[in-house]
Amino acid sequence: MDSRSRMSDSQFAFHLALHRRLHQDRRRQREREAKRAEEQAAQESLENQQLLASVRAQVTSLDDGPIALVVIPSGATGTSTLPADRIDSYARHLTKVIGEAFDGTAPADGPVEAHRKPAERLQRAEQRFADNAALRDLSDQLCGMCRGGCCGWGADDAYVTSSTIRRYRLANPDMSADDVLAAYLAVLSPEVIEHSCINHTSTGCALPREMRSDTCNGYYCESLMAFQTEHLSRTERLSVVAIQRAKANWLGTGPGDINPIVDVAVIDAHGKRTIPRE
Ligand code: SF4
Ligand code: SF4
Repeated sequence: MDSRSRMSDSQFAFHLALHRRLHQDRRRQREREAKRAEEQAAQESLENQQLLASVRAQVTSLDDGPIALVVIPSGATGTSTLPADRIDSYARHLTKVIGEAFDGTAPADGPVEAHRKPAERLQRAEQRFADNAALRDLSDQLCGMCRGGCCGWGADDAYVTSSTIRRYRLANPDMSADDVLAAYLAVLSPEVIEHSCINHTSTGCALPREMRSDTCNGYYCESLMAFQTEHLSRTERLSVVAIQRAKANWLGTGPGDINPIVDVAVIDAHGKRTIPRE
């Protein structure tokens, strides 16, 4: 419409028709993609249910109690030597946040405004686990199986903030800023998962839980959140059938993308065991 005054009637009619067609094409494309994504989700859901039925038939002890089906993503697996420039970048980030944490504010003052959301999310997670302790153990086992599908964006700051350092200081009041920096650098692994968080290793997170950010300690992907919420008030012992698909948490599938199953496991009173598939 902005171009109307600069065009003749016939030019404007052509201009309008062209844009109408482009707009319709884009809308049809979006509808096709949404339909394909729906079909893909329905196909995966059917596969998941068929697999659950087959696992139930194979593992007869599962019939003893309630069963949760949880579909989890996959963390990356390729490793490489941790390069010096990544360590330098992490050290610069740590120096900055440690400086902020030691800068006048008392460690007990809690997270600064910018970090309040992750702190609240962590509190809610801790409350869920206080209400149902079995959920923590089952979630830890599922995350262990996934191997950090949500750690891909940790990059060279690992989500460590001045609030993380203030919490760490509270537990270690005698440590100086240099001591804290040295402690964080000391746990780095020489071999890390490629294109992921600097602390992401093939055996899990190199940072002890008390040194991790609230973001890391309180985050659960959609699948695990749904699992924890659904079974929060369950009091009987719960068995889990875990289906692991190939994509990482943040790399959602595009419409029509295949997200194949890479592993199936049962987690119950007898521990975790992989279920062979035909
Ligand atoms: S929260 Fe989800 S994506 Fe992250 S490690 Fe656990 S299962 Fe994987
Ligand atoms: S610090 Fe640990 S938990 Fe957090 S993103 Fe990095 S590897 Fe994952």
